[in-house]
Amino acid sequence: MARVLAVANQKGGVAKTTSVASLGAALSELGRRVLLVDLDPQACLTFSLGLDPDTLELSVHDVLLGRLPPGIVIRSTPDGSDLLPATIELAGCEAILLSRTGREHALRLALGEIAAEYDFVLVDCPPSLGVLTINGLTAADEVVIPLQCETLSHRGVGQLLDTVADVQRLTNPRLRVRGVLPTLFDGRTAHSRAVVLDVETRYQVTILDPPIARSVRFAEAPGLGRSILTTAGRSKGAEAYRAHARAIAGGGAGTDVAATPPAGTQ
Ligand code: ADP
Ligand code: MG
Repeated sequence: MARVLAVANQKGGVAKTTSVASLGAALSELGRRVLLVDLDPQACLTFSLGLDPDTLELSVHDVLLGRLPPGIVIRSTPDGSDLLPATIELAGCEAILLSRTGREHALRLALGEIAAEYDFVLVDCPPSLGVLTINGLTAADEVVIPLQCETLSHRGVGQLLDTVADVQRLTNPRLRVRGVLPTLFDGRTAHSRAVVLDVETRYQVTILDPPIARSVRFAEAPGLGRSILTTAGRSKGAEAYRAHARAIAGGGAGTDVAATPPAGTQ
């Protein structure tokens, strides 16, 4: 049975899509069977894996609305993962789903049909806390929260954790928070480290180690239709995602990067 990880944060530009593509490629390198799901109407994951969302006829939209089984829509990608692609039609899907009973469960039910064919399913959520992200969280065993370490980043984490608590209560009691993944991380500044420590103490979440350093290599990869695991396979960023993939594949929980919270910060 596939283990489903949702990668979610309602803020855009925090490396959700990059993390899904990179973790998918790294898990594939480990010989795991991986399906990536693009749940963002902007279809950046689909594009960054070499498919043109503007010319795709079938997409995750058809699957969420129950028009097609996922197997017909899934495509293979050069990085080794399979992909359930998105197109801009997904934007309209949100409105249609809202009028349906059981709307939060559309993805979970669809993935149930193909769960035996994969070891891992990674879901790239859109930058909102709407019905698509709720579908991702309802289908997931675990959620990974990429966090760009800047002032006020923690506020978004608080709102997302509230949503996770709602999902646990209402649609998916088995959902666990795997942890917060620091991305676009600048280890040279005390500020990045302070933000991570603040989030850890405020919310008592696991901070996943190692952080993903900011590197120009990441900006180049999507335009080449491959993940950084291929375009810069020996870079620090690629190695960091490999370390997370090994931890995920090994079944272990993430490790804490920050020290025990100082007394008096709660
Ligand atoms: P999201 O899916 O959260 O909106 P993306 O994965 O699309 O975020 O990343 C936003 C932008 O940041 C993209 O241009 C991506 O190439 C770039 N990026 C992601 N991770 C890094 C990194 N570690 N260093 C530098 N740029 C990065
Ligand atoms: Mg994205």
